[in-house]
Amino acid sequence: LRGVLQGILFRGMIIEWDAANRPLRIIGTISDISERKATDERLRHMAQHDALTNLPNRALFSDRLQQELATAKRNSERFALIFLDLDKFKPINDNFGHNMGDRLLQTVARRLEDSIRASDTAGRIGGDEFIILLPKLNVAEDALNLAEKIRINLRRPYVIDGHELNISCSLGVAIYPENGGDEVTLTKSADQALYQAKEEGRNKTVRA
Ligand code: GH3
Ligand code: MG
Repeated sequence: LRGVLQGILFRGMIIEWDAANRPLRIIGTISDISERKATDERLRHMAQHDALTNLPNRALFSDRLQQELATAKRNSERFALIFLDLDKFKPINDNFGHNMGDRLLQTVARRLEDSIRASDTAGRIGGDEFIILLPKLNVAEDALNLAEKIRINLRRPYVIDGHELNISCSLGVAIYPENGGDEVTLTKSADQALYQAKEEGRNKTVRA
């Protein structure tokens, strides 16, 4: 006998039966495991999210990407992978301090979340590098439009601690399946497009 009900774990076994084989005596334990469950849940969340911004981290993002690859293959759908890197972020740290840089990254993350739909995923994969998964794409233009919307949204001035900060970002857009049929190829395409956006002067979106 074993079961969990609202964070309470029941465990028991029958130790005595009567002549008709009906249970007579049962021993067991009842324990409150809600705290342990909450701890498990916290640890699971920490393993999958970036501590600074609380966005999905590389591991969780990679899971979502693998899932989307499988779905898209099965249903012959398209989807987009967008790489984003802030332009000249280092000078923010240098001029205003690392703490201000952190707070800017947090605010960027919130704006990024506000720019996408619930079915999209935005993650942080490195210092000032973010990634967006846009599932079930009808036309490639939808991905470019979203990338541009994000670029413009992130460019609005930030007011943190009474300081006005300005920053832009560069984006690289890769579309499944034309720019890659697996995680490695697709990621490489998005990364190259982002690199090209940087090369071409930053504050722009490039499609792979
Ligand atoms: P570029 O336009 O070429 O992207 O220039 P950049 O200055 O943004 O340079 P790059 O993207 O290569 O480097 C990002 C910098 O972000 C490097 C590092 O100093 C800083 N950084 C990385 N992680 C963190 C973090 O967690 N907090 C803060 N405040 N800064 C970070
Ligand atoms: Mg950067």
